Amino acid sequence: MKVVLKVIREEQRALFIIFGGTGDLAQRKLYPALFNLYKRGYLKKNFAVIGTARRPWTNDYYRDVIKCSIDGMFDSQAQATDFASHFYYHSHNVNDKQHYEELKALADKLDEKYDLGGNRIYYLAMSPRFFGTISQYLRSEGLVTERGYGRVIIEKPFGRDYQSAKELNDEISRYFDEDSTFRIDHYLGKEMVQNIMALRFDNGIWSALWNKEHIKNIQVTLSEALGVEERGGYYETAGALRDMVQNHILQIVSLLTMDRPKSASEKDIRQAKVETFKALKVYSPEEVYQNFVRGQYGEGEEQVAYREEAMIDPDSMTETFVAGKLEVQNKSMAGVPVYIRTGKRMTAKMTRVDIVFKNEAPLFGGGIEPENVLTINIDPDLGLDLRLNMKKVGQEFATKKTKIGYRLSKEQVAKIPEAYERLILNVLQGNAVNFTHWDELKYSWRFLDAIRNAWDEQELPVDFFPNYACGTMGPQASAELLEKNGDHWIY
Ligand code: NAP
Repeated sequence: MKVVLKVIREEQRALFIIFGGTGDLAQRKLYPALFNLYKRGYLKKNFAVIGTARRPWTNDYYRDVIKCSIDGMFDSQAQATDFASHFYYHSHNVNDKQHYEELKALADKLDEKYDLGGNRIYYLAMSPRFFGTISQYLRSEGLVTERGYGRVIIEKPFGRDYQSAKELNDEISRYFDEDSTFRIDHYLGKEMVQNIMALRFDNGIWSALWNKEHIKNIQVTLSEALGVEERGGYYETAGALRDMVQNHILQIVSLLTMDRPKSASEKDIRQAKVETFKALKVYSPEEVYQNFVRGQYGEGEEQVAYREEAMIDPDSMTETFVAGKLEVQNKSMAGVPVYIRTGKRMTAKMTRVDIVFKNEAPLFGGGIEPENVLTINIDPDLGLDLRLNMKKVGQEFATKKTKIGYRLSKEQVAKIPEAYERLILNVLQGNAVNFTHWDELKYSWRFLDAIRNAWDEQELPVDFFPNYACGTMGPQASAELLEKNGDHWIY
């Protein structure tokens, strides 16, 4: 039985083929992540990377790009040069079958040169519309070897609704089985997100209290301070619901609300997560209108409104903010409201979870807000806060709200691997616990489609948006959503 917590501290051997090797994701995230794995000794001599895209780059030029993307991270020029020497560029249009023959010849040559044992990781860092074609040619043109493993890493977005996600999955699964398919959600690579399971299941106090008897509500906030920036073209067709809720938020919710897995094995954790997604109550249109709020940012002192951003329709009805109340109908959490909130141009960039505990009859008044709150700070702070009621110092016997906190030290934070580094190492080691299984996706889209469809059917006047100002925590309706239940946002 594979124990998820175990990271094998040994050198890995593999060939990476990065489709979209000239792109933004590859340069900003993937090359630095590979470099960190190299610095930490997980990749040493026996690895090679083929970057592919249409641009006619040479190996030398590509290696200069690699060095630029790890600028400031290397200890010496010699180290950077040695790392970059493992990179090869292959100009390639993914729709062109003939190019795969050349790619295979190069892959086989590097396999021999670096003694890679046939292990190959195919990173699809490009638009999902190419995923099916690439997967097909990788198989038909013999790039997936008989020896070693062949694993494919897929980036979000995985579909835009259940139907398109299923079609995409059907296409890929014709060529790669589920165990070889790693769907990235980089939030699952974050230190404090990974900490949720440790906190819940390895501490008696939280194991005892983390259930519907003791939790009043759960709040998940993923706020961004930035606007849509240069992603207008994509964002117009996606919106906050698809961009943030379907993946990152629902993944965090599943970790917070899942029933205790039978063991720490990958299989049992995955099973517990899938059951949680299945238990998400799918709303009728009426319930969507009651339980979900959408927003779009207007202008701020120095910022333009969403509708005035580049590549955005001046009458756009795309939401840049979502708040909602979810119900997870499982053993632990049935009946506990799970409030979620995400948006652009909000007060600050922050990811946090607040667990609000019941405290129905405080004997001494219980401070200003009677509830105990456990806050899990995920980003940019990493740590925990616990809000308790304590006696005020002095003669008088009254209680006051007190916060005790724990923050990871600067030294600890410096040691934390970046999400992509951690997740790529998981793929190298064949550990899929921090990746999204198709069954999780299937149920998350079922849940999301109900909201999207209800919203699409609702006719709103154009002046419904904008409904929140830059630098705020979203529209007033978001606060009212909680007030209806006698709750309020902790942050
Ligand atoms: P990007 O900068 O536009 O890169 C796209 C890559 O695809 C480029 O290398 C491009 O190179 C290549 N390409 C396009 N058409 C091709 C073709 N027919 N044949 C071969 N190569 C082709 O996009 P990105 O930001 O890196 O994003 C890549 C994927 O990751 C997208 O699905 C995105 O949603 C996802 N993602 C990105 C980020 C991020 O931070 N950037 C975060 C999460 C998810 P050529 O033009 O040289 O062909």
